[in-house]
Amino acid sequence: MADRQALLDRQAPLFGRVAIVGIGLIGSSLARAIARAGLSAEIAIADRDPAALARAEALGLGTSYHATAAEAAKGADLVIACVPVGACGPVAAEIAPVLSATAIVSDVGSVKGSVIRQMAPLLPNPRRLVPAHPVAGTEQSGPDAGFAELFDNRWCILTPPEDADADAVEKVVALWRACGANVEVMASDHHDLVLAITSHLPHLIAYNIVGTAADLEEVTQSEVIKFSAGGFRDFTRIAASDPTMWRDVFLHNKDAVLEVLGRFSEDLAALQRAIRWGDGEQLFDVFTRTRAIRRGIIAAGQDTASPDFGRRPAVEAGPAAVEPPVKAAKAS
Ligand code: NAP
Repeated sequence: MADRQALLDRQAPLFGRVAIVGIGLIGSSLARAIARAGLSAEIAIADRDPAALARAEALGLGTSYHATAAEAAKGADLVIACVPVGACGPVAAEIAPVLSATAIVSDVGSVKGSVIRQMAPLLPNPRRLVPAHPVAGTEQSGPDAGFAELFDNRWCILTPPEDADADAVEKVVALWRACGANVEVMASDHHDLVLAITSHLPHLIAYNIVGTAADLEEVTQSEVIKFSAGGFRDFTRIAASDPTMWRDVFLHNKDAVLEVLGRFSEDLAALQRAIRWGDGEQLFDVFTRTRAIRRGIIAAGQDTASPDFGRRPAVEAGPAAVEPPVKAAKAS
């Protein structure tokens, strides 16, 4: 894209100091993407976990490393909270006293209305809050799991409140474009409804189906693992996603998730009825419609047409396909 190239060709970095609070999958991917594009003279990294911070330093993800968000935010032009949605309020409270008058605050949370409600009242200048959600990720966590290309050609949705400063929005748009993403701006409640159906509900279904299979008394755990080559395996991948992150998503997008869950339950009941009454025509119609949607996603460049969702055995694909070391899932 011409405007992305122009961003990359500019002489001075877009920011003097970017602070990344939380150096997990998204925070570390962002640090790598910011460095790749030369977007900031300094990248100050904060994490409450000393082991994650030490790992970030060993990987050379930033220019300075801090045990607290406030230390990283001091003198920053942009602070990005890359923590679970429920931790955004406490991060805002911690950084507020040290923020400069012109500092921009952003985040990467998967829910947007709650992030604005949590952060805006605590910030000295709420008009410089520009929430963002990169619609890109994996089921892995921690600084080793990130990679600079994560956002390439993926969407990043910004949900600035209506009275947000235009120059702050422009700078966050420029940052994400230079990190490889396509940017769309929308209202936070619309974002939360769209993502409830495209992301949050599928995760809930995956957590539920894997939980149900594991609980089935007639099917042993070893059979669940042994015969998981079918569709079930894709659910297990999604259901391996970080429990803290997803707990917060459901607690903070409660209304939209319950709304789409109601609709989903009705449609599931209709399929149940079609199976019970042998209504093959209805089943065929639904499955034909859904197949077209998959093809639309591939046509839009949001996934690969390769069979098996593009996955290849690690041996065939070489070292890059070997799973990076990841942090153990957190149970809190
Ligand atoms: P992650 O790899 O688990 O990293 C989260 C980081 O936040 C960790 O460093 C964690 O430290 C820290 N953290 C957790 N609770 C905290 C708290 N109460 N206060 C301060 N720091 C805390 O998670 P992630 O996948 O990067 O997700 C980060 C954000 O990105 C979430 O809001 C999520 O909704 C959003 N997001 C995720 C994806 C995805 O696919 N994963 C995609 C788009 C957006 P500890 O290790 O000490 O817990």
